[in-house]
Amino acid sequence: MSAASPDDDRPVRETFLPYGRQSLDEDDIAAVCEVLRGDWLTTGPGVAEFEKAFAQIAGAAHAVAVSSGTAALHLAMLAAGVGEGDEVVTTPLTFAASASSILFSGARPVFADIDETTLNIDPERVRDAITERTRAILPVDFAGRPCRLDALREIAAAHDCALVEDACHAIGARFRGAPVGGVSDLTAFSLHPVKNITSGEGGVVTTDDPERAERMRCLRHHGIRRTSTPDAPWAYEIHELGYNYRLTDFQCALGLSQLRKLPGFLKRRREIVAAYDRELADCPLVLPPLDDDSAWHLYVVRLDRRRTDADRGEVFRALRDENIGVQVHYIPVHYHPLYRNMGYQPGICPVAERVYEEMLSLPLWPGMTDRDVGDVVAAVRKVTARRAG
Ligand SMILES: *Cc1c(COP(=O)(O)O)cnc(C)c1O
Repeated sequence: MSAASPDDDRPVRETFLPYGRQSLDEDDIAAVCEVLRGDWLTTGPGVAEFEKAFAQIAGAAHAVAVSSGTAALHLAMLAAGVGEGDEVVTTPLTFAASASSILFSGARPVFADIDETTLNIDPERVRDAITERTRAILPVDFAGRPCRLDALREIAAAHDCALVEDACHAIGARFRGAPVGGVSDLTAFSLHPVKNITSGEGGVVTTDDPERAERMRCLRHHGIRRTSTPDAPWAYEIHELGYNYRLTDFQCALGLSQLRKLPGFLKRRREIVAAYDRELADCPLVLPPLDDDSAWHLYVVRLDRRRTDADRGEVFRALRDENIGVQVHYIPVHYHPLYRNMGYQPGICPVAERVYEEMLSLPLWPGMTDRDVGDVVAAVRKVTARRAG
């Protein structure tokens, strides 16, 4: 590892290192090309093949492939029976799409604060947020770390609402030995390029409930149900308003090829996490707690207020100047003007709001070399040394 002096003006690296990116090989590319040369670009045999493999890895009876993680969340809301006049309890510390899916369904998001250590939704705050209008609980496995699904399940059951898990960060994570995807009533995943595996754009919902799976397959294809008879082979009926949320066959081929690499991707993510844990232990940072069950989508550090009064914005900019692509995950959802204009106020989730001021995500993706990891470590050490005390 190179040791950079705090006063060295040259950046630790010459080229920009993003916080996340896809890891594709020639065999991923070949898998897509094979489909492009065939008969079915969309709605062909590749969709069912991908869904079957995904369901198996996620430990669920059914997987429904859709065009994005956002579409997955939207259909999961509808399959959970969420609609106009309902409330859904969710976390403020997430990508806005989690809460958008609640708004799409006509319901109102209710933000419950997070646990300061895991940064996941706090089941006690969920309990406080439940009303007679609550139809679902939508926790997010933040950074790939599974939520307290046992406690959330219990709360959902006691109040007769659905547990819909946003596992967009958590493909390959486990909860008490079981794969994430088979624990909640419905679980939504994303296949966007920064996520743990990709299909370009794409998403999946898993469930053990055959009726919900069937309804989501119908909703992703305009709400169409085939009613062909020998006399009317063209016949189909639309019973409810559906969408075009289909995933193409060539994207499914990429998704399937990537799914085979998931164990190797997870292993490399864990190696990088172990290196950060080791090399950054004495920096004025709160490092993410150890978790062997996390999918380690993000490595989120916080400025340790007992050891530094450095400003997060300043540390962020200094690391960008070192060509380290740090990010902030996330601006609390209720801070956005869309939500302010609906009447949500700062102050409703004090833990998330405080943590937001301190947090930074360091680069983490399987294709990072040991040298890339060393650059991140050197830059973080350089920048935090300069700003300590
Ligand atoms: C990425 C992400 C989504 C949305 O997924 P897309 O595939 O980009 O639509 C939703 N929730 C969380 C927590 C995410 O990180």
